[in-house]
Amino acid sequence: MTTDWKDVESKYYMFVVRRQPVVIVKGDGTKVWDVDGKEYLDFTSGWAVNNAGHANEAIADAISEQARTLLQTSNQFYTVPQLQLAEILVENSALDKVFFCNSGAEANEGAMKLARRYGARNKNGAFEIVTALNSFHGRTMANVSATGQPHYQELFQPIPPGYKHVSFGDFEELKGSVSEDTVAVMLEPVQAEGGVNIPPEGYLENVREFCDQEGLLLIFDEVQTGMGRLGTLFGYESFGVEPDIMTLAKGLGGGVPIGAFMAKDEACAFEPGDHGSTFGGNALTCAAGYASTKYIIDNDLSQNSAEMGERMGEALNTIMANNSSVAEIRGMGLLWAVLFNSDIGPDVVANCNNEGLLTNPLRPNAVRLMPPLTVSAEEIDQAMERLETAIKAVG
Ligand SMILES: *Cc1c(COP(=O)(O)O)cnc(C)c1O
Repeated sequence: MTTDWKDVESKYYMFVVRRQPVVIVKGDGTKVWDVDGKEYLDFTSGWAVNNAGHANEAIADAISEQARTLLQTSNQFYTVPQLQLAEILVENSALDKVFFCNSGAEANEGAMKLARRYGARNKNGAFEIVTALNSFHGRTMANVSATGQPHYQELFQPIPPGYKHVSFGDFEELKGSVSEDTVAVMLEPVQAEGGVNIPPEGYLENVREFCDQEGLLLIFDEVQTGMGRLGTLFGYESFGVEPDIMTLAKGLGGGVPIGAFMAKDEACAFEPGDHGSTFGGNALTCAAGYASTKYIIDNDLSQNSAEMGERMGEALNTIMANNSSVAEIRGMGLLWAVLFNSDIGPDVVANCNNEGLLTNPLRPNAVRLMPPLTVSAEEIDQAMERLETAIKAVG
């Protein structure tokens, strides 16, 4: 029973996450089931992770086969799954080299370390990184500094120095924040945790051009926007702006913990020994990552993400027109936020649960929707009906 497991959790698990009262035991595609047998449409997909759907056969086969063959060797040796994943990512992106790690935060740590080595070697020791307010880059100490949300920073003083924060979308402010100490600008192409904030027209192009003029590295944190989420394999493609360094995680492994940072050859400033990882690029996670990435590409899930995202956007527009509690909708591909006129987000999420739809309580006044990229038109329609019922039930 859900209630029994809630009791076990409150007794044994550190209380740092407010969970929804759903004990998920099984998934298949867009659907999941709880311990009481109730079925849901999962519009959270493990926090934008299960891009190829829950219990995807190709990924499951790759994991079980790899588990029976070889799990871990360390990076002292070559392994085939790691190099297959490296090849498919490089061949399908604008970046030239990759390094694997275990999470989004670690990917950003690696990217920022790479930028500092680049600054040391090419820019007179420049080290500072400009990031955006309302960004989210992860939970490690350096990422707390990088993340432009004072709330997280105040909790963990003193935090590592070397960061400046500017308003997302304000190009003039970004230009003004750069000094001779600056080595890089790091942005999410679309701010995800920060509220699904789409950059103003031309902003990323301007930032790219400015970085070129000033010899700055442009880092895109594509931990959430990558792997088809925005309707293109990588988010940068949606804006026609290539980064020098790009980080990935979330959707990269289809559900196993893996992250990566990728760079253009000119930005590859590491020398052997500068960086490393025990588990990063492990045979198991890379086999899963390769199967998931290949599945996304072979089945053109980016295209499905674009089409289903458009369908969802239209449905959300109608919901907004018919419900005065909805103030705004924002999104691209299969990453959407619904913003309300008051703090009814948690009530909407709870009502969605009752209706059989899992959503993410993004803010007190906002709910985020991010289904697997395998989602069907019928599932989108069903989910939108359930969402509207849930919104109406709040009153
Ligand atoms: C989730 C997220 C991270 C952190 O990833 P973890 O795997 O939780 O460390 C970093 N950047 C962005 C944009 C994210 O959405």
